[in-house]
Amino acid sequence: MSMQEDYERMSRSDRREAERLPSVEPVNYRGKALRGPVGIRYGKTQVKNAIPDQNAVMAALNLIPVENGGNRKPDDALQTWWPLAIEGKCHQLLYERILQFQKINKTTADGVVDPNGGAYQGMLRMAYPSIPRLVEKNAPREQAIEALPKAKGWVAAALGYLSQYIAALTTGTAFNHIPIETHFHMAKIPAADRPTFASRIITPYFQILRFLAPENIEAVSVDDLLKRSRCFGDTAAAFCGTTTKIMVSPTFVGLGINCRAAILIHEASHHFGAGHINGERGAAYDNATPQQAITSAYVFPNFAEHVVPPYVDQRFGLARPKV
Ligand SMILES: [Zn+2]
Repeated sequence: MSMQEDYERMSRSDRREAERLPSVEPVNYRGKALRGPVGIRYGKTQVKNAIPDQNAVMAALNLIPVENGGNRKPDDALQTWWPLAIEGKCHQLLYERILQFQKINKTTADGVVDPNGGAYQGMLRMAYPSIPRLVEKNAPREQAIEALPKAKGWVAAALGYLSQYIAALTTGTAFNHIPIETHFHMAKIPAADRPTFASRIITPYFQILRFLAPENIEAVSVDDLLKRSRCFGDTAAAFCGTTTKIMVSPTFVGLGINCRAAILIHEASHHFGAGHINGERGAAYDNATPQQAITSAYVFPNFAEHVVPPYVDQRFGLARPKV
């Protein structure tokens, strides 16, 4: 059966999804290492064509101008609307764009992007020029270190806020209670116990602040990360798990700096026992008890981001990967 027939057989909703795909940036796939080849060798032989690998190639092509062999027109629209990737089958449209990229960039024009081949290296360099040495092993760690000052600034602000909060409770001074109410739900604690509870929050933030250092961050491959317990499911951005360090994979590269800083705080809090409790937003988060909040790896970054200007509940993190 031809690929075109496969595509024609897709249901209407799949087709709609396929047509919608390019408008959603496949950020999870940005700069991701390929696990197998993508394309149709010399227009004849389908290669491995795993769906995530096809998406990674499409994501890279979407960021490269048409004149350089990519899929982005001068008016910022996409030249080719990608069909939904099918496992094991590269669509004719993707094959043609790969071939076009190879011809324009004078790499071997065999219609296949190999994991360690020149075509993919070229695509990564052109698609993500702002990311230094993207394909190098250490790039995720460098990206984490770049976000460290921001993460530490937030944590320091959280510590400052907490001591001011305790002082304000003791002296009865007016104070902005919104951040600590929003994330730690202090209204559920009897007034007399609030200074003590707030001081219990100070301890983990101090531990996190000390832990956020370059020597505690390690770059690992996606494959290595997939073998271990980790955060954020398949995105494999970072984890702390049972190891002694914060692990960052190539998926971490290219995330916004606020997102990266939030992830680092999240991972560091795991190191001191915080878990995935009540999610990072939603009803469960809003209705958590203070005791749950103080053991939640989501609460630590959310609160710390909230107590720096402009004092807005922003919730950076992988739910907002670009910022
Ligand atoms: Zn986590």
